[in-house]
Amino acid sequence: MIPYGRQTVSQDDIDAVISVLQSDWLTQGPAIEGFEAALASYTGAAFSLAVSNGTAALHLACLALGMGKADRVWTSPITFVASANCARYCGAQVDFVDVEPGTWNISIESLTAKLRQAKQDNKLPSLLIVVHFAGQSCDMAAISQLADEYGFAVIEDASHALGADYEQGKVGNCRYSSMSIFSFHPVKMITTGEGGAITTNDPQLHKALLALRTHGIVREPEDLLAPADGPWSYEQHSLGYNYRITDMQAALGQSQLKKLDQYVAQRRTIVQRYNDMLSDTPVQCPIQKPQGAPSWHIYPICLWYSAENPKNLGTITQARRQIFTGLREQGIGVQVHYIPVYRQPYYADMGFSGDSFPVAESYYAGAITLPVYPALSEDDQQRVVDVLHDQIDLAANLIADTDSP
Ligand SMILES: *Cc1c(COP(=O)(O)O)cnc(C)c1O
Repeated sequence: MIPYGRQTVSQDDIDAVISVLQSDWLTQGPAIEGFEAALASYTGAAFSLAVSNGTAALHLACLALGMGKADRVWTSPITFVASANCARYCGAQVDFVDVEPGTWNISIESLTAKLRQAKQDNKLPSLLIVVHFAGQSCDMAAISQLADEYGFAVIEDASHALGADYEQGKVGNCRYSSMSIFSFHPVKMITTGEGGAITTNDPQLHKALLALRTHGIVREPEDLLAPADGPWSYEQHSLGYNYRITDMQAALGQSQLKKLDQYVAQRRTIVQRYNDMLSDTPVQCPIQKPQGAPSWHIYPICLWYSAENPKNLGTITQARRQIFTGLREQGIGVQVHYIPVYRQPYYADMGFSGDSFPVAESYYAGAITLPVYPALSEDDQQRVVDVLHDQIDLAANLIADTDSP
């Protein structure tokens, strides 16, 4: 099976983990600070904080901004459920903003319209969590302008986008946001097994995150509310969690980070080849915007997508299922990223309907994620494309040219 994504672990990574195992610190030791410093330096953010996973990073970021029952949090429907769940952990209400064709990132047009309406209804969000889908940055300059105009905070879910460029900097530099979060799950850009991180330029947020990561406890003498009983003193100021990462994981992360630019370059080469090889097929390849260079965590295609001449989504769904199954049967580990979050029963029960998100619905009907990872060989990639061509030919009879909704 050719998987849709997989980690690259080499001997230097293994050596880095072993040297931590032979040291005095398995957790809360110097490897964590080393990894955090390397991440801050790589992204260009002032601070970085490593945590147990990307979901924990999202949860802490929402908590540090004080999200609670009175707040509305908006995010993209084309994302992993964690981007929305983190707001629910804080009791906040979740809503979604439709995506734009081609990048499948939050649409600035939809966001602007939804904000205008929300202002009239007195239901403006306190927070927008943008998702840099597939590793391509959202239009952060436009989003931060809207954030200023309508008064909401911005968190970047950059789980896909470590190593991506936007304007003159790296995603994660938080030039246009309060915080960015990353995931180091094995399919992501670099891995620590499980792991995540938050970057920020705000020293107050960094301090709040440090305490929340470890039960809401502070230890520095200047942070204590009462005179210290002794050198052992600590105080719990808020209800935090144990969201720490281990030193073994941090050492693996720091070793992986050294190779990130090489991984990104390999992914970009593979994606360019896919774009060329699929140009004569009824496939909408991901569109790259001129403001940046994506990291290409995944390669999501959409079958028979057409904004001008939309086809019946029911027949596309049927053809996609046949093509997807055919690819899997031929040993190609395709995936679908993602089932729109509002379709999940947990969210659908809140009253969401696909009618509010026409682009997300069209995308989902034809979506298939093709394999991309640094070690994917040219031969394997050719095989993916050959099988896809065959499967599209087999399914094409389902899609008639006259077929309109
Ligand atoms: C992977 C991912 C997460 C969650 O990360 P974990 O480390 O698995 O908790 C959140 N958001 C997006 C968009 C992701 O892809």
